[in-house]
Amino acid sequence: MEFVVLCDFDGTIAMIDTAEFVLHKFAHGDWQIYDEYLENGEITLEECMKKQLSFLRASKKQILDELKDAVRFRPNFEELGEYCTQNRIPLIIASAGLDFVIKYFLDSMNWSRFVITYTGKTSLDTAGWSLTFPSLLDKESANFKQDLVRSLKRQGKTVIFIGDGNGDYAASAEADYPFAIKGSKLARLCKNHGIPCVEIEDFKVVEQTLRNMMM
Ligand SMILES: [Mg+2]
Repeated sequence: MEFVVLCDFDGTIAMIDTAEFVLHKFAHGDWQIYDEYLENGEITLEECMKKQLSFLRASKKQILDELKDAVRFRPNFEELGEYCTQNRIPLIIASAGLDFVIKYFLDSMNWSRFVITYTGKTSLDTAGWSLTFPSLLDKESANFKQDLVRSLKRQGKTVIFIGDGNGDYAASAEADYPFAIKGSKLARLCKNHGIPCVEIEDFKVVEQTLRNMMM
């Protein structure tokens, strides 16, 4: 089997949701209502993030300064990354969050060497922050994360997906081996819909699962 590991960033690799944290600090207006719209299936993950970011009033530097001391990482991500590298298993971070925040932390942890990122692209101009996402290969996909799972599966890959949020549900539902952070919204959604995901608190179990299947 050819494995690919897809992993969400906010709330999954990072213990906090960095986008949410930044919105709490710097957004003006009712950005939280869009979380409800997303939860009710009224808007897509992409629409939700685009809309929320438009409420953000802060520079890149302000955002990174605020996050630097606030972000901790879920244990054993580095070990998973090393294992994937040694075994030529692509490790892809699929995130609807802030690309420059992810890049900043991956570089500072020296993790850029073993991950690929699949994210939206933020830009800041006089009108404020905006976000563009990778276009869907399959127009029927719920969002770009699920689209990536589908595309990899069409290529015959076996997909492991790890996440925590509403936005991860569609991808998890179609992944071969879904993992959800214990106690997360995703874990609850999977349980409610009968998706057999494994609940985890750190990345050790994911690595162990890969090891067992590689034997
Ligand atoms: Mg998340």
